Amino acid sequence: MKRACIFLCVGFFFVFQAAAQSAHFKYAVIPENPRPGEPVTIGVNDTVKQAVLFANEKQLAKAAFFSVSLPEGMPGFMAAVLTVPSTVSPGAYTIKLENDSVLICEIPLTITEREFVSEVIELNSDLTAIRTEPDPQKTAEANRLWAILARTGNEVYFSGKFIPPVSSTRRTSFFGDRRVFKYSNGKSDTSIHAGVDYGVPTGTRVLACGSGKVLLARGRIVTGNSVVIEHAPGIYSLYYHLDKIEVKENAMVTAGDLLGLSGATGLATGPHLHWEIRVSTENTDPDAFVGRSIIDKDLILSKIYR
Ligand SMILES: [Zn+2]
Repeated sequence: MKRACIFLCVGFFFVFQAAAQSAHFKYAVIPENPRPGEPVTIGVNDTVKQAVLFANEKQLAKAAFFSVSLPEGMPGFMAAVLTVPSTVSPGAYTIKLENDSVLICEIPLTITEREFVSEVIELNSDLTAIRTEPDPQKTAEANRLWAILARTGNEVYFSGKFIPPVSSTRRTSFFGDRRVFKYSNGKSDTSIHAGVDYGVPTGTRVLACGSGKVLLARGRIVTGNSVVIEHAPGIYSLYYHLDKIEVKENAMVTAGDLLGLSGATGLATGPHLHWEIRVSTENTDPDAFVGRSIIDKDLILSKIYR
Protein backbone atom coordinates (compact mmCIF):
# COMPACT_ATOMS: atom_id res chain seq x y z
CA MET A 1 0.00 0.00 0.00
CA LYS A 2 2.85 2.32 0.96
CA ARG A 3 4.75 1.46 -2.26
CA ALA A 4 1.65 2.11 -4.40
CA CYS A 5 1.33 5.54 -2.83
CA ILE A 6 4.93 6.42 -3.63
CA PHE A 7 4.44 5.40 -7.30
CA LEU A 8 1.23 7.40 -7.44
CA CYS A 9 2.91 10.47 -5.96
CA VAL A 10 5.91 10.21 -8.32
CA GLY A 11 3.48 9.81 -11.23
CA PHE A 12 1.54 12.93 -10.23
CA PHE A 13 4.81 14.83 -9.89
CA PHE A 14 5.86 14.07 -13.51
CA VAL A 15 2.41 14.82 -14.91
CA PHE A 16 2.45 18.12 -13.04
CA GLN A 17 5.98 18.93 -14.30
CA ALA A 18 5.04 18.20 -17.94
CA ALA A 19 1.95 20.40 -17.64
CA ALA A 20 4.01 23.21 -16.10
CA GLN A 21 6.63 22.97 -18.87
CA SER A 22 4.10 23.02 -21.74
CA ALA A 23 2.14 25.87 -20.14
CA HIS A 24 5.33 27.90 -19.75
CA PHE A 25 7.22 27.25 -23.00
CA LYS A 26 6.03 29.28 -25.97
CA TYR A 27 7.44 29.83 -29.43
CA ALA A 28 6.75 31.95 -32.51
CA VAL A 29 7.63 30.87 -36.07
CA ILE A 30 7.65 33.52 -38.84
CA PRO A 31 6.55 32.78 -41.53
CA GLU A 32 4.58 29.62 -40.83
CA ASN A 33 4.64 28.43 -44.48
CA PRO A 34 8.00 29.44 -46.01
CA ARG A 35 9.09 28.75 -49.57
CA PRO A 36 12.46 27.17 -50.53
CA GLY A 37 15.25 29.74 -50.04
CA GLU A 38 13.32 31.77 -47.47
CA PRO A 39 14.47 32.44 -43.90
CA VAL A 40 12.41 31.39 -40.87
CA THR A 41 12.69 33.40 -37.64
CA ILE A 42 11.95 31.51 -34.40
CA GLY A 43 11.41 33.29 -31.08
CA VAL A 44 11.16 31.48 -27.71
CA ASN A 45 10.48 32.57 -24.13
CA ASP A 46 13.04 30.19 -22.59
CA THR A 47 16.66 29.12 -23.06
CA VAL A 48 17.17 27.04 -26.20
CA LYS A 49 20.49 26.35 -27.93
CA GLN A 50 19.61 25.51 -31.52
CA ALA A 51 16.85 25.04 -34.08
CA VAL A 52 17.26 22.25 -36.64
CA LEU A 53 15.14 21.73 -39.76
CA PHE A 54 14.50 18.05 -40.47
CA ALA A 55 12.99 16.01 -43.30
CA ASN A 56 12.15 12.84 -41.35
CA GLU A 57 15.54 12.14 -39.74
CA LYS A 58 17.62 14.07 -42.29
CA GLN A 59 19.01 17.39 -41.10
CA LEU A 60 18.56 20.16 -43.71
CA ALA A 61 19.55 23.36 -41.89
CA LYS A 62 20.30 24.58 -38.40
CA ALA A 63 20.78 27.83 -36.51
CA ALA A 64 21.97 28.86 -33.04
CA PHE A 65 19.72 30.86 -30.71
CA PHE A 66 20.87 34.25 -29.43
CA SER A 67 19.46 36.68 -26.88
CA VAL A 68 17.37 39.62 -28.05
CA SER A 69 17.32 42.43 -25.51
CA LEU A 70 14.43 44.84 -25.25
CA PRO A 71 14.01 48.24 -23.52
CA GLU A 72 14.15 48.12 -19.72
CA GLY A 73 11.05 46.67 -18.11
CA MET A 74 10.19 44.48 -21.10
CA PRO A 75 10.96 40.76 -21.08
CA GLY A 76 13.69 39.74 -23.54
CA PHE A 77 13.57 36.58 -25.59
CA MET A 78 15.80 34.27 -27.63
CA ALA A 79 15.72 34.06 -31.41
CA ALA A 80 17.22 31.90 -34.14
CA VAL A 81 17.02 32.36 -37.91
CA LEU A 82 17.43 29.44 -40.28
CA THR A 83 16.90 29.22 -44.01
CA VAL A 84 15.02 26.56 -45.93
CA PRO A 85 17.57 25.45 -48.58
CA SER A 86 16.46 26.41 -52.10
CA THR A 87 16.78 22.75 -53.15
CA VAL A 88 14.09 21.51 -50.71
CA SER A 89 10.84 20.11 -52.19
CA PRO A 90 7.48 21.35 -50.94
CA GLY A 91 5.87 19.28 -48.19
CA ALA A 92 5.75 18.61 -44.45
CA TYR A 93 8.91 19.14 -42.39
CA THR A 94 9.83 19.52 -38.71
CA ILE A 95 11.85 22.11 -36.80
CA LYS A 96 13.33 20.63 -33.61
CA LEU A 97 14.33 22.98 -30.82
CA GLU A 98 17.21 21.48 -28.84
CA ASN A 99 19.41 22.11 -25.82
CA ASP A 100 22.56 20.18 -26.70
CA SER A 101 21.02 16.82 -27.61
CA VAL A 102 17.90 17.27 -25.44
CA LEU A 103 14.75 17.83 -27.49
CA ILE A 104 12.70 20.76 -26.13
CA CYS A 105 9.97 20.98 -28.74
CA GLU A 106 8.99 19.81 -32.25
CA ILE A 107 7.34 22.32 -34.58
CA PRO A 108 5.62 21.16 -37.77
CA LEU A 109 6.49 23.30 -40.82
CA THR A 110 4.84 23.22 -44.24
CA ILE A 111 7.13 24.33 -47.07
CA THR A 112 5.24 25.63 -50.08
CA GLU A 113 5.90 25.45 -53.82
CA ARG A 114 8.45 27.65 -55.62
CA GLU A 115 9.68 27.77 -59.21
CA PHE A 116 13.20 28.89 -60.11
CA VAL A 117 14.52 30.31 -63.39
CA SER A 118 16.93 28.28 -65.58
CA GLU A 119 19.72 30.05 -67.45
CA VAL A 120 22.77 29.23 -69.57
CA ILE A 121 25.91 31.37 -69.19
CA GLU A 122 28.74 31.15 -71.72
CA LEU A 123 32.22 31.90 -70.35
CA ASN A 124 35.24 32.98 -72.41
CA SER A 125 38.66 31.42 -71.76
CA ASP A 126 39.63 33.95 -69.05
CA LEU A 127 36.39 33.42 -67.09
CA THR A 128 36.58 29.64 -67.67
CA ALA A 129 40.05 29.70 -66.08
CA ILE A 130 38.76 31.66 -63.03
CA ARG A 131 36.07 29.04 -62.45
CA THR A 132 37.93 25.84 -63.27
CA GLU A 133 41.69 26.19 -62.67
CA PRO A 134 42.88 25.01 -59.25
CA ASP A 135 44.62 27.84 -57.39
CA PRO A 136 45.82 27.78 -53.75
CA GLN A 137 44.93 31.46 -53.39
CA LYS A 138 41.36 30.76 -54.50
CA THR A 139 41.14 27.95 -51.92
CA ALA A 140 42.56 30.21 -49.17
CA GLU A 141 40.02 32.92 -50.05
CA ALA A 142 37.15 30.42 -49.99
CA ASN A 143 38.28 29.11 -46.58
CA ARG A 144 38.57 32.61 -45.17
CA LEU A 145 35.05 33.54 -46.33
CA TRP A 146 33.62 30.29 -45.00
CA ALA A 147 35.23 30.93 -41.59
CA ILE A 148 33.43 34.30 -41.47
CA LEU A 149 30.03 32.96 -42.59
CA ALA A 150 30.14 29.90 -40.32
CA ARG A 151 30.85 31.78 -37.11
CA THR A 152 27.96 32.80 -34.87
CA GLY A 153 28.61 36.03 -32.97
CA ASN A 154 26.55 37.46 -30.12
CA GLU A 155 25.83 40.96 -31.34
CA VAL A 156 22.51 41.99 -32.86
CA TYR A 157 23.59 45.08 -34.82
CA PHE A 158 20.43 45.13 -36.91
CA SER A 159 17.07 43.38 -36.67
CA GLY A 160 14.84 45.38 -39.03
CA LYS A 161 14.08 45.31 -42.77
CA PHE A 162 16.89 45.51 -45.34
CA ILE A 163 16.96 48.27 -47.94
CA PRO A 164 18.01 47.29 -51.49
CA PRO A 165 21.74 48.07 -52.03
CA VAL A 166 21.16 50.05 -55.25
CA SER A 167 18.30 52.30 -56.32
CA SER A 168 17.91 50.46 -59.67
CA THR A 169 15.36 47.64 -59.85
CA ARG A 170 16.83 46.18 -63.06
CA ARG A 171 17.81 42.59 -62.36
CA THR A 172 19.80 40.40 -64.74
CA SER A 173 19.73 37.24 -62.56
CA PHE A 174 17.50 36.12 -59.72
CA PHE A 175 17.95 34.24 -56.47
CA GLY A 176 18.09 30.47 -56.93
CA ASP A 177 18.52 30.52 -60.73
CA ARG A 178 19.50 27.07 -61.93
CA ARG A 179 22.59 27.82 -64.00
CA VAL A 180 24.55 25.94 -66.63
CA PHE A 181 28.05 27.36 -67.22
CA LYS A 182 29.34 26.60 -70.72
CA TYR A 183 33.13 26.71 -70.71
CA SER A 184 35.40 27.78 -73.58
CA ASN A 185 36.80 24.22 -73.74
CA GLY A 186 33.37 22.78 -74.62
CA LYS A 187 32.72 21.37 -71.14
CA SER A 188 29.96 22.59 -68.84
CA ASP A 189 28.98 22.67 -65.17
CA THR A 190 25.89 23.51 -63.14
CA SER A 191 25.35 25.73 -60.11
CA ILE A 192 22.63 27.58 -58.23
CA HIS A 193 22.80 31.38 -58.13
CA ALA A 194 23.28 32.38 -54.49
CA GLY A 195 22.03 35.99 -54.70
CA VAL A 196 20.46 38.53 -57.03
CA ASP A 197 22.27 40.46 -59.79
CA TYR A 198 21.44 44.10 -60.45
CA GLY A 199 22.37 45.15 -63.99
CA VAL A 200 23.84 48.55 -63.11
CA PRO A 201 26.65 50.48 -64.86
CA THR A 202 30.16 50.56 -63.42
CA GLY A 203 30.41 53.32 -60.81
CA THR A 204 26.91 52.89 -59.35
CA ARG A 205 26.80 53.63 -55.62
CA VAL A 206 26.40 50.44 -53.55
CA LEU A 207 24.85 50.92 -50.10
CA ALA A 208 24.78 48.81 -46.93
CA CYS A 209 21.39 47.02 -46.84
CA GLY A 210 21.41 47.18 -43.03
CA SER A 211 23.61 48.30 -40.14
CA GLY A 212 26.44 46.06 -39.03
CA LYS A 213 30.16 45.33 -38.94
CA VAL A 214 32.33 45.02 -42.05
CA LEU A 215 34.09 41.66 -41.73
CA LEU A 216 35.59 41.54 -45.22
CA ALA A 217 36.49 44.32 -47.66
CA ARG A 218 39.07 43.16 -50.19
CA GLY A 219 39.69 41.73 -53.65
CA ARG A 220 39.00 38.03 -54.27
CA ILE A 221 39.78 36.03 -57.43
CA VAL A 222 36.25 34.73 -58.10
CA THR A 223 34.04 37.47 -56.66
CA GLY A 224 36.32 40.46 -57.40
CA ASN A 225 36.29 43.38 -54.97
CA SER A 226 34.00 42.12 -52.23
CA VAL A 227 32.38 43.39 -49.02
CA VAL A 228 30.79 41.23 -46.30
CA ILE A 229 28.75 42.76 -43.44
CA GLU A 230 27.62 40.97 -40.27
CA HIS A 231 24.15 42.15 -39.17
CA ALA A 232 23.20 39.70 -36.44
CA PRO A 233 24.48 36.30 -35.25
CA GLY A 234 24.80 34.16 -38.41
CA ILE A 235 23.25 36.83 -40.69
CA TYR A 236 25.47 38.38 -43.36
CA SER A 237 25.11 40.46 -46.53
CA LEU A 238 27.64 40.18 -49.37
CA TYR A 239 28.41 42.54 -52.27
CA TYR A 240 30.54 41.29 -55.18
CA HIS A 241 32.33 42.50 -58.34
CA LEU A 242 32.78 46.09 -57.08
CA ASP A 243 34.94 48.47 -59.08
CA LYS A 244 36.02 50.26 -55.91
CA ILE A 245 35.68 49.51 -52.17
CA GLU A 246 34.97 52.51 -49.90
CA VAL A 247 34.92 50.82 -46.46
CA LYS A 248 37.56 49.18 -44.27
CA GLU A 249 37.43 45.80 -42.53
CA ASN A 250 36.15 46.02 -38.91
CA ALA A 251 34.36 49.34 -39.58
CA MET A 252 30.80 49.76 -38.32
CA VAL A 253 28.28 50.84 -40.94
CA THR A 254 24.70 52.11 -40.81
CA ALA A 255 21.98 51.08 -43.25
CA GLY A 256 22.37 53.21 -46.39
CA ASP A 257 26.11 53.92 -45.91
CA LEU A 258 28.27 53.85 -49.06
CA LEU A 259 30.22 50.56 -49.35
CA GLY A 260 31.73 51.08 -52.79
CA LEU A 261 31.05 51.50 -56.50
CA SER A 262 29.74 48.65 -58.64
CA GLY A 263 31.85 47.13 -61.40
CA ALA A 264 32.75 43.90 -63.17
CA THR A 265 35.75 42.57 -61.22
CA GLY A 266 36.25 38.80 -60.77
CA LEU A 267 34.00 36.30 -62.55
CA ALA A 268 31.61 38.73 -64.25
CA THR A 269 30.40 38.75 -67.85
CA GLY A 270 29.51 42.46 -67.58
CA PRO A 271 29.04 45.27 -65.03
CA HIS A 272 26.58 44.30 -62.28
CA LEU A 273 26.17 44.10 -58.52
CA HIS A 274 25.80 40.63 -57.01
CA TRP A 275 23.95 41.01 -53.69
CA GLU A 276 23.75 37.96 -51.48
CA ILE A 277 22.39 37.15 -48.02
CA ARG A 278 23.65 34.25 -45.89
CA VAL A 279 21.79 32.95 -42.85
CA SER A 280 23.67 30.34 -40.81
CA THR A 281 25.79 29.73 -43.96
CA GLU A 282 22.75 28.99 -46.18
CA ASN A 283 22.05 31.09 -49.31
CA THR A 284 18.93 33.11 -48.55
CA ASP A 285 16.53 35.00 -50.79
CA PRO A 286 17.61 38.67 -50.32
CA ASP A 287 14.05 39.91 -50.88
CA ALA A 288 12.76 38.08 -47.80
CA PHE A 289 14.18 40.58 -45.29
CA VAL A 290 13.26 43.54 -47.50
CA GLY A 291 9.63 42.50 -47.06
CA ARG A 292 9.77 41.75 -43.32
CA SER A 293 12.05 42.38 -40.33
CA ILE A 294 14.81 39.89 -39.47
CA ILE A 295 13.36 39.85 -35.95
CA ASP A 296 9.85 41.29 -35.66
CA LYS A 297 9.99 41.95 -31.91
CA ASP A 298 6.37 43.07 -31.52
CA LEU A 299 5.00 40.05 -33.40
CA ILE A 300 7.21 37.59 -31.49
CA LEU A 301 6.30 39.16 -28.12
CA SER A 302 2.60 39.01 -28.99
CA LYS A 303 2.90 35.26 -29.63
CA ILE A 304 5.14 34.15 -26.74
CA TYR A 305 3.80 36.33 -23.93
CA ARG A 306 0.10 36.26 -24.64
ZN1 LIG B 1 25.37 36.94 -59.13
